[in-house]
Amino acid sequence: MHNIDVLKISQHKINLLDLNRQDLYLFLASLGAKKFSTEQIMNWIYNHYCNDFDKMLNISKKIRTKLQERSYIFASQFIEERTSCDGTIKWITLIDHQKIETVYIPERKRSTLCVSSQIGCALKCDFCATGKQGFNRNLKVSEIIAQIWQANKKLKQKNITNSIRNIVFMGMGEPLLNLNNVVSALKIILDEHGFGLSKRRITLSTSGIVPALNKLSKMIDVCLAISLHASNDSTRDILMPINKKYNIASLLSSVLKYLKYSNANRGGVTIEYVMLKGINDSNKNAEQLANLLNNIPSKINLIPWNSFLGSPFVCSDAKRINIFAEILRNKGFTTVIRKNRGQDINAACGQLTGKIINRFKSLS
Ligand code: SAH
Ligand code: SF4
Repeated sequence: MHNIDVLKISQHKINLLDLNRQDLYLFLASLGAKKFSTEQIMNWIYNHYCNDFDKMLNISKKIRTKLQERSYIFASQFIEERTSCDGTIKWITLIDHQKIETVYIPERKRSTLCVSSQIGCALKCDFCATGKQGFNRNLKVSEIIAQIWQANKKLKQKNITNSIRNIVFMGMGEPLLNLNNVVSALKIILDEHGFGLSKRRITLSTSGIVPALNKLSKMIDVCLAISLHASNDSTRDILMPINKKYNIASLLSSVLKYLKYSNANRGGVTIEYVMLKGINDSNKNAEQLANLLNNIPSKINLIPWNSFLGSPFVCSDAKRINIFAEILRNKGFTTVIRKNRGQDINAACGQLTGKIINRFKSLS
């Protein structure tokens, strides 16, 4: 079902940020608008960040009046902002009295925005602060899109020219458990009249919801990152309870299927592996991991674990991580040790909990 069907039945005014191009086209057709007005309106929204129909002067007065009666354009605002000493910015949005987080990570040439797909997460991975928080609800398409819209606006206000060219679904939540809304948002992100980003620069990270991953390959083509984090099922069962439902073998076979369909991935997937001292970081673990990935074209990202209050885990020592990486490299895997950004403001991977820290600067 298209989002528009849901919205039509509901009789409520429609937020145009909930509609991808196809949905917007159907909605505009129902108002009697011409076909090309879809692109014109998307241009107003995603190029000019315009939310006022009166300013859309290339749209007829009659259609603008109908739009005003039946719809609106609303992007939830960031209510708080915190900037790290390394330039990373964390923004908080308040939705239904719940907090979600969006993180901007500046890089020399192209910056990255890490977006959330759910409020909290139901999957309870042991090493993840979001998992410990529990699940509240899925984000709507407009709530995902609003994170990018507001981030772009904020960067412009700050005269930061290092614009967002990469988007990673690595914030709060499991994107494949909010499949339809995430795919619809991805369509807007990729659309030349939407944010117009390249599929090679959009990454969806998943803990491995196998049936949804199988569906995804027929819905959209973006880069895939898999949160593996263990080299065998018994360890993964403990770290990531979802493994009891979809084990490593079923996950990797689904990944291979996705790669067959995908151009974005250029034939390879990113494997994420969080480094936990004494749990998954031995030489044997590295060798097991290399064996597991023997038939999977992949690049391995080793992620130093980020601590959060109350967690019993400890991050592996830098020396151990280097040895682990060397074993994988010697087996022929491209292996990167991920830099931790924004740790001082709790904006690093797995530190997102929606908690507001008092020292946050409030935005007016
Ligand atoms: N739910 C998705 C995407 C969000 S988590 C997923 O699990 O892939 C984004 C990444 O951060 C995942 O690889 C996740 O396993 C990792 N992560 C979670 N908690 C972490 C922590 N405390 N330190 C480092 N990485 C963590
Ligand atoms: Fe959810 Fe991903 Fe955290 Fe696991 S690692 S609890 S899937 S957000």
